[in-house]
Amino acid sequence: MLPKSTLYVVATPIGNLRDISLRALDILAAVDVIAAEDTRTTGHLLAHHSIAGKMMALHQHNERTAAEKIIALLAAGKSVALVTDAGTPGISDPGAILVSIVREQGYRVTPIPGANAALCALSAGGIAEPHFLFYGFLPAKTGARKRALEGLKSQPYTLAFYEAPHRILECVADLVAVLGAQRQLIFARELTKLFETIHTCALGDALAWLQADANQQKGEFVLLLSGAEVQDEAGISDQSRHTLELLLENLPLKQAVKLAAEITGESRKMLYALALSLKVGNSVQ
Ligand code: SAM
Repeated sequence: MLPKSTLYVVATPIGNLRDISLRALDILAAVDVIAAEDTRTTGHLLAHHSIAGKMMALHQHNERTAAEKIIALLAAGKSVALVTDAGTPGISDPGAILVSIVREQGYRVTPIPGANAALCALSAGGIAEPHFLFYGFLPAKTGARKRALEGLKSQPYTLAFYEAPHRILECVADLVAVLGAQRQLIFARELTKLFETIHTCALGDALAWLQADANQQKGEFVLLLSGAEVQDEAGISDQSRHTLELLLENLPLKQAVKLAAEITGESRKMLYALALSLKVGNSVQ
């Protein structure tokens, strides 16, 4: 028996229909009503798991009116599950309005965790940087998209975007235009599905890779982009500093600076100043 008057926010698979928790299946089988973004998509999931649930529609165009109906159900002691087409409700998906109304009215909201496309991509991306910024969908039009990217340009965190197949080429073109060609990009396409692809490349090589195989432009994407390089006060990145330090261990100062400038593209004058300060620092120790 489920507790009465509770809204369960239930994560569903992002592709493979078996990527759903046992608890989620128990809840879906036991609630009085399942509020679904698309009742056909959820019907397919329920049928796959032999669950016969009573459904109602809750999507971005009716969320407030559906929320009123759900409040009436909760007031009558019923339990309700919220699901979207894929992944976790409320994450680039409907759900936040309903959840806030239900909580405002004093009813219990319980999350049932599970799949999320961004976390799934991050888990298989192999990115050592521990912090990330989940952005979700960028604006659909290029001007607004570039403005949004300008606002993210200096963030040092891995950036996680969602993108639709019909916008993938223009989105990648704007990413290169605003963030430059050097950053690392991980395409995570069709995760947990038949044509799952996880491809890493320099952002500057991404368009050519996509254009070389039209199949790679199909399906659903998560894009993970390395963050802005952290620079010291003089504007030298951590990576350039590291290169200089390695060269200084084996070469005379002037030669190390010359090579470091060629490798990193940083100003020779600034690298020289940094090399001097590193040498002084080392001799003081
Ligand atoms: N609520 C979902 C979640 O928790 O991830 C996200 C829903 S959002 C409307 C749909 C977007 O998520 C897609 O356009 C795509 O960018 C991403 N996505 C969903 N499933 C995916 C998959 N199997 N592989 C890659 N990206 C996926």
